[in-house]
Amino acid sequence: MIGDFAVGKTSLVARFVRQTFSDKYLTTIGVKIDTKLIDLSQEQIKLILWDIAGSDALSTVTASYLRGAAGYFLVVDGTRKPTWDNALNLQELVNSQIGNKPFILLLNKADLQEQWEINNLDIAEQLQQGRMVIHTSAKTGTGVEEAFTQLATKLLNNP
Ligand code: GDP
Repeated sequence: MIGDFAVGKTSLVARFVRQTFSDKYLTTIGVKIDTKLIDLSQEQIKLILWDIAGSDALSTVTASYLRGAAGYFLVVDGTRKPTWDNALNLQELVNSQIGNKPFILLLNKADLQEQWEINNLDIAEQLQQGRMVIHTSAKTGTGVEEAFTQLATKLLNNP
């Protein structure tokens, strides 16, 4: 899980792994690791999810965590445009550190779409580059299962 501070990385993992959501604000310290088994076209996959502190994303500590990643989510808070710009910058940095790995852009907080700051042109530009963009809400659960299933599928196709 990669992305700015407070975009919803921890909440998305909590929703996916435990089916819970909390409004309580809890800053990720360092890294948190969760696992979940999913069934995918007759195979069982164990996802090991690394939730890395946002503001730390470029530190050398995080760089060493990144090195073992098979793929990643770039998480954006749809209500804050700077988190989108930062995610795209982060993608380039991660790419320079661990090479071309599967990733998906998650536009989180889809339940607050009336406050959306990311327009369809921004999204279309990413889609044109062959990138996958999924709208999620850790609060309602929208898109969360799909996001993890899609990333797992990409990982299987890109061992
Ligand atoms: P992180 O720093 O990226 O791990 O972000 P958190 O998961 O800690 O979430 C930051 C804040 O955003 C918390 O107050 C969450 O309750 C809230 N939040 C996370 N996801 C959503 C969402 O999909 N919708 C809404 N409305 N709030 C969310």
